[in-house]
Amino acid sequence: MKEKVENLDWNNLGFNYHDLPYSFTAKFFDGQWHAGELTEKSTIELSEAAEVFHYGQEVFEGLKAYRRKDGKINLFRPELNAQRLADSAARLGMEPYPIDAFVESVKTIVKANEQFVPPYESGATLYIRPFMIGTTRVVGVSPATEYTYHVYATPVGAYVNGLIPAPYTVSEYDRAAHAGTGRAKTSGNYASSLIASAQAHQDGYADCLFLDPREHKYIDEFGGANFFGITKEGQFVTPKSASILPSITKRSLLELAERQGLNPVERPIEFSEIDQFAEAGAMGTAAVISPVGSITANGHKHVFYDEKEAGPITTKLYNELIDIQYGDRPAPAGWIQTLE
Ligand SMILES: *Cc1c(COP(=O)(O)O)cnc(C)c1O
Repeated sequence: MKEKVENLDWNNLGFNYHDLPYSFTAKFFDGQWHAGELTEKSTIELSEAAEVFHYGQEVFEGLKAYRRKDGKINLFRPELNAQRLADSAARLGMEPYPIDAFVESVKTIVKANEQFVPPYESGATLYIRPFMIGTTRVVGVSPATEYTYHVYATPVGAYVNGLIPAPYTVSEYDRAAHAGTGRAKTSGNYASSLIASAQAHQDGYADCLFLDPREHKYIDEFGGANFFGITKEGQFVTPKSASILPSITKRSLLELAERQGLNPVERPIEFSEIDQFAEAGAMGTAAVISPVGSITANGHKHVFYDEKEAGPITTKLYNELIDIQYGDRPAPAGWIQTLE
């Protein structure tokens, strides 16, 4: 059933699906992408033999529309999501959706569902989920020749007082192989991380950290967010690895950290270095930064800053990026697109 805007409590949205008036859909067949369009249909009908059900050709993105203080709406670097979806698609042998068409589809769906972009004061946002699936009917294994690109949007709550640190543990599972699909935003990586997360929750942790799949020696990332640490000397450090997803939040924080003189670096980080970090966090669109209060592995618990409070550098980076996204402070050139 379609959501009614008057039934929503902007201050208590959580991270749930609401069926909004419009979605966007486009199809690839006969060797080309055909013009996409808004649709009121929020279901997809597929053959039981569709590629996505059997051989997992699926890639997705996640980005947000932010209501500014003046009522206008901001998008944050949507062309980077467009490029990453194309890169993910290429890795899975899929036909990339054109960059310009992606950005246009995001603007179109936000405008069509404008009344569902939460008010500035709530700190809530409209979350946009573009994805692509192989739809060709298959029995034998080969890439699809037909694809559907689809976008839905749903309002999601603020992680208000979002800077509350949480405890983490280290997974014994891998989410992606070394030369596998770790750099692609694809459902399979999530499927393989679900039991690891469930185990972490069961053991009383917010989530788990994955180590590099070859040696289990280096820090890779969390299931849905990249890792950073702030050394005792105040340096911003984040892992370099072949099996982590290139986070746009991470890329943006690296640039802000540079401007703040934090001498940021991307390099392999041995898990044994964990005690060297005074602060740590998880970076991703959903929460921007989730401060890491502690990481427990092999009976050793390392506490960052103060388990109950985010550190000063984490807090400063978080506030700066949030303010940029909402248009409360000037953004580096090209970071913000304000919808007309
Ligand atoms: C989406 C995602 C992230 C975060 O990327 P952002 O572009 O910052 O939202 C990090 N890790 C994984 C595995 C992801 O799927």
